[in-house]
Amino acid sequence: MRITSTNNTDKTRYSIGVDLGGTDIKAGFVSSAGDISCRVVLPTDVETGGPKVVAARIAEAIRQVLVNVKTTGIHITSKNLENRRSGNAPDDNVHDIGVGLGAPGLIIAETGVVHFSPNFPGWTDIPLVDYVNAELAKRHAPKRTAPTDTHKQYKPILRAMDNDVNAMTLGELHHGAGVGYKSLVALTLGTGVGGGVVINGKVYHGSQNTAGELGHTIVEPNGRVCGCGNLGCLEAYAGAKNIVQRIQEKIENGRSSRLTDTIKDGVALTPRRIAAAAAAGDTLATEIFAETGRYIGIALTSIAHILNPQIAIIGGGIAEAGEKLLFKSIRTEFSKRAMDIPARMKIVKAHLGNDAGIVGAAMLAMENTYP
Ligand SMILES: [Zn+2]
Repeated sequence: MRITSTNNTDKTRYSIGVDLGGTDIKAGFVSSAGDISCRVVLPTDVETGGPKVVAARIAEAIRQVLVNVKTTGIHITSKNLENRRSGNAPDDNVHDIGVGLGAPGLIIAETGVVHFSPNFPGWTDIPLVDYVNAELAKRHAPKRTAPTDTHKQYKPILRAMDNDVNAMTLGELHHGAGVGYKSLVALTLGTGVGGGVVINGKVYHGSQNTAGELGHTIVEPNGRVCGCGNLGCLEAYAGAKNIVQRIQEKIENGRSSRLTDTIKDGVALTPRRIAAAAAAGDTLATEIFAETGRYIGIALTSIAHILNPQIAIIGGGIAEAGEKLLFKSIRTEFSKRAMDIPARMKIVKAHLGNDAGIVGAAMLAMENTYP
């Protein structure tokens, strides 16, 4: 039996990656080459139920991915999937598929527990992996069928869960800007500032699963209040909300900007609108991005001195501000401050964009399925 896709060889492995967010659950069928197919997006529905309802939605997203796999004609042999069903009699017609999950918050990867998540208020020490696997077992109870490919059954098993930024970091390591590197750090600049650390090709979790909080590197000892309660964290300068607040304060204090009219018109400022104003020549907007870059460069200096990584990968919506507005000032500040050898760390934009979460989660499954 051969795989019909011309891009694949028999050595291609497959798993399912799930990116759990506060709003959406994104899932896809991912090859070991990092290609995503059979995508599904479902609303998380966190308002309508607790963790078991979200677990059921995740299981439903996985089921829909597998329906898409069957209908798109991707043809997979058992060699490309797992075959280590335990306890059951071997059945060549049932193929185990490893699933990986990236979830926001403080995740205890070893035990599959969400300790706390700002996106899911009230969740404390939720055994989400067990909940999802219980839902998957309900939906995918193996049935005896005729031994033909058309009746092939897929049995998905959630093999691993990690913090979503760790999953994205893993995605960039295997299939993005981190290909070819063994030690790297990743920063995601979104609503908050997330971080991931890879040492010797493995995501570093620390002694209690909290390593990699790079967004809470202090860049101003008596600076702005951060969401974590501390003063002067990078997130308090480079998070989306904070970038908007900083420019608003300057406008309120009398600085002129073409964004003044935007505010008067009742249109909410966003980093994207600020970047557009900067690109159109607005001095204040340009300054805000340069200052943001400067703070990122300060944080990266400490990070490089502590970890000496080969590369720092910067992703998330704010990284879209690009080379001229943001990355130039990051590199200038970093090279001014870092000692010569750690200063060799490259600073690059992430490659995978919104797909990093799904690809990374699938890699998490593969790492835990094919050691
Ligand atoms: Zn903080």
